[in-house]
Amino acid sequence: MKISPLVDNSLIQAATHIPNSDKLTTALTQPEHILKADLSLTQNGEKQIYSALRIQHSSLLGPYKGGIRFHPQVSEEEVGTLAFLMTIKCAVLGLPLGGAKGGIAVDPKKLTEQELEELSRAFVRAFYKNIGQDKDIPAPDVNTNGQIMAWMLDEYEKLIGHKEPAAFTGKPIALGGSKGRDRATGAGGAMIVSSLVQKLNKHPKDLKVAVQGFGNVGYHMAKELQARGFRIVALSDSKGGIVTEQPNGFDIEVVASCKKEKGYLAGCYCVGGVCDLKFGRKISNEELLELDVDILVPAALEDVINKNNTDKIKAPIIVEMANNPVTLEADEILNNHKKVIIPDVLANAGGVTVSYFEWLQGKENKYWEENDVMEKLEKKMTEAFEEVWRESEEKDISLRIASYINALERLQSAYNLRSY
Ligand code: NAD
Repeated sequence: MKISPLVDNSLIQAATHIPNSDKLTTALTQPEHILKADLSLTQNGEKQIYSALRIQHSSLLGPYKGGIRFHPQVSEEEVGTLAFLMTIKCAVLGLPLGGAKGGIAVDPKKLTEQELEELSRAFVRAFYKNIGQDKDIPAPDVNTNGQIMAWMLDEYEKLIGHKEPAAFTGKPIALGGSKGRDRATGAGGAMIVSSLVQKLNKHPKDLKVAVQGFGNVGYHMAKELQARGFRIVALSDSKGGIVTEQPNGFDIEVVASCKKEKGYLAGCYCVGGVCDLKFGRKISNEELLELDVDILVPAALEDVINKNNTDKIKAPIIVEMANNPVTLEADEILNNHKKVIIPDVLANAGGVTVSYFEWLQGKENKYWEENDVMEKLEKKMTEAFEEVWRESEEKDISLRIASYINALERLQSAYNLRSY
C-alpha cells in the first residue's frame, strides 16, 4: 500500500536512529488488515452501491483506533496513510492503542437523514465482526459526528446482543460520550503551543497567530489560544479569510457568532453593528498562509503548504492541526529555513487522547468531569511534548523526526516483547 511521501520519509529517517528496526519498519509500511465492502442503499426506489473501507494498520500497542470519514474521495491510499498516522500518534502519546481509519466513498450532503442513518448502519453490518472495545474502536472523522456514532453503536449492540459503549468514541454524552471531547483537539494543540513558547522564552501576548480553518479544530484552537493570551489576528474558512490590525486580535466568540449568523467568516471583523476597516479586512486563503505572523496554524486541509507557497511562508512557527498539511518538499525547505514545525502526530493528538479517556470511562462505567478530562489531557500532551522536545534537542533533529523516533521506540519494544 502507498503512504504519503512525507510520512514514508519520516518513518525511514526515524528508523535510522533505532537499532535493529528493519523488520518493524517493513511491517509498518503495510497495514495488518484492509477490509472492504460494497454497501447497498435504496435511494428513490433504486439500489445504489457505495464502497466502504476499514484499514487496520497496527495493533502492536493495543486495539486499533481511528475515525470513519464519509467523503467522495475516500481511497485506499488516503485511508491507509491516515491509519498509519493513527499508529504513530497513539505511540507518540504513549496510549495503549493501535492505528486504524475507515471511510465510505460518498457525498453525505446528497443523502437524506434517513439514508445517512441507513448507510451508517450498513457500515457496521459489514464490519461488526472486526469491531469491538478490545479489537477496533471507531470514532468520527470528516463528515461524521456524534449522531452517526450513536447509530453505529446502536446497530453494533443489536448485532452482538449486549451493551458495549466503549466500542465507539465521539458519542453523544447521553450514550457514554466524554465531556470535553468536542474541544479536545483544539485544546490539546493550544497546550502544546503553550509548552513550546515557554521553551522559546516567548510570551503569548507578544505572539500573533493566523488560523486556517474555522471548523471544530480551528475554532477551538483559536478560542483556547486566545484564552491563554495569544493574539488571533487572522482566521479563514472555505469561503475566505479575515485579518485585523487590532492590538488584541479577534474576539473568537464574537467572530463565531457572526459566522453562525452569516454562514461564513468574510465580513466578521465588524464590532457590534460597526464595520470599519480599522477593525479588519477580507483576505484570501492563500494570503492567510503568507501573513507576517508568529504562529501559523493550518487546521483545514492536507497539502496546503507545498512547493508553490513555501518560500512565501513568513511565520517562524507552524502548528499542524490538520493531518498532513505540509508536503514532503515543503517540509524540507521549511526545515532548511529553520522554521519550527509541530507535526500533526503531536499537535492534533488531543482528540485521540480524549477518545482514549472516553474508552476508559466506557469500559469502567464511569463519568469524569470536564475539568478532570482537561487536567488529564494537559498532563498527557505536555509529557509527550517534553519527550519530543528532549529528543529533538539531543539529536538536533526536527520535532517531526523526534516524534517518529519516540513512537518507533515504543512500537519496537512491543514488537520485541511479542517476539515477532
Ligand atoms: P471541520 O469540517 O469541522 O472544519 C474544517 C474547516 O476548514 C471548515 O471551517 C472549512 O470551512 C474550512 N476549510 C475548508 N477548505 C478550506 C480552505 N481551502 N481554506 C480555509 N479553510 C477551509 O473539520 P475539523 O474536524 O475541524 O478538522 C480539520 C482538520 O483537522 C482535518 O484535517 C482533520 O483530519 C484534522 N483533525 C481533526 C480532529 C478532530 O478531532 N476533529 C482530530 C485530528 C485531526
